[in-house]
Amino acid sequence: MTTKEIEELVRQIMLGQTDIKKEGSIGGSGVFNTVDEAVCAAVNAQAEYLYVSLEIRRKIITSIREKMLPLVEELSTRTYEETGMGNIEDKIHKNRLAINQTPGVEDLITNAETGDYGMTLYEYSPYGVVGAIAPSTNPTETLISNTIGMLAAGNAVIFSPHPGAKNISLWLVKKLNEIVCEASGIDNLVVTVATPSIIAAQEMMNHPNVPLLVITGGPAVVNEAMRTGKKVIAAGAGNPPAIVDETANIKKAAIDIVDGASFDNNILCIAEKSVVAVDSIADSLIGQMEKAGAYLIKNPEDIRKLEVLCLTENNKPNKKFVGKNAVDILQAAGIQYTGTPRLIIVETQKNHYFAVEEMLMPILPIVRTPNFDSALRTALELEQGLHHTATMHSQSIANLNKAGRQLQTSIFVKNGPSFAGLGFKGEGSTTFTIATPTGEGTTTARHFARRRRCALIDGFSIR
Ligand code: NAD
Repeated sequence: MTTKEIEELVRQIMLGQTDIKKEGSIGGSGVFNTVDEAVCAAVNAQAEYLYVSLEIRRKIITSIREKMLPLVEELSTRTYEETGMGNIEDKIHKNRLAINQTPGVEDLITNAETGDYGMTLYEYSPYGVVGAIAPSTNPTETLISNTIGMLAAGNAVIFSPHPGAKNISLWLVKKLNEIVCEASGIDNLVVTVATPSIIAAQEMMNHPNVPLLVITGGPAVVNEAMRTGKKVIAAGAGNPPAIVDETANIKKAAIDIVDGASFDNNILCIAEKSVVAVDSIADSLIGQMEKAGAYLIKNPEDIRKLEVLCLTENNKPNKKFVGKNAVDILQAAGIQYTGTPRLIIVETQKNHYFAVEEMLMPILPIVRTPNFDSALRTALELEQGLHHTATMHSQSIANLNKAGRQLQTSIFVKNGPSFAGLGFKGEGSTTFTIATPTGEGTTTARHFARRRRCALIDGFSIR
């Protein structure tokens, strides 16, 4: 069989023996009118990609990094203008992080076992076409980071962006597809549909030629994906608490918490969503947080105004204020303030809606507890078993260790802002898909690949 014939056969198998469809994208852009057309184009592209060298895969990733970096400001500005959430400066940091620090092909580490019977090799190989859902909160960062990881693993990807970030997402898919095509000669390794919607996302999730779903979003979409019965990597909601015990460097803890909780107006799933402070240091912590740029609301009438504005009638976050900045929220609530605060802080009980709900607003409830053990119990309750993210400020190794063991979050940042757990001003690689219910944690290329075992009998053990 010639290579061409093998490629043709692989295509047919991946298309479930159906006729190979070759519908064109709109203007050759990776953007298609229907989900089926987009998936078929991606299947064809991936069948070609299977025969491309690792060197070309590396070239693709390098090209994405080089060609996306000069576009970061435009990307961040347009995202802010379209979604109305967060702020441009922090989006620039997030996009740079996705471009520079998402691992590529080097993440696919081969392992081998050798002995009397020969050699067994473990390697990562692609799934085929990945169906990826992106959130409105990190639309471009997720697209960039997922594209790097998924293509590094040898897949093609069909994105289902959030309709609220449609224009920037379509623009970015076109750009990414163009960059990938230039580097590899293969069109349609990164595709999407012209009109993203929940219906289109569901069609994509249920498409027979999409074997792996990577979902970055809230509980509704995660549940929807689980119902397909497919392999799902689900990066769901979080509600990260920040514990501060009596041994912490209070000034640094305050700065770190304010930095983390105000970053992009708190729309990151990993951002501090509450503070649980031991009583003996709580006043000092609040004082330092005010110095670091937070505005404390004490007056019960003002607290009520904030509740009325930011919660709906059934006490869910009011979407209108998700990702808005602190000053706009204070003004809209009619609360007097001084300076230009970047975070609103308010003392609450642990069962207050601000603490329990994933608000995604620069409003940080502070809950007092008598001691570290009760702080840890409260943090566990607030994290709600999501296994997402927690931060802690302490100089006690014993306390940090105890919290780490009990919280079992995918990300646990000690003595730093939450974003350090994404590799921003913290060590390590980045991802914008932190798989919580399905357990992969901070995903990289190897999670988007199958681990295969290849045994060679009676050979290649040379010890
Ligand atoms: P969202 O759940 O409203 O939307 C996420 C995506 O899912 C969008 O593309 C949307 O169109 C799609 N979607 C929503 N409901 C769907 C359904 N029933 N069927 C098919 N598709 C559906 O979330 P959002 O507001 O865009 O993003 C914020 C949420 O995402 C927060 O809960 C946040 O914690 C979470 N998030 C998690 C991570 C992570 O890595 N764990 C990263 C970013 C955001």
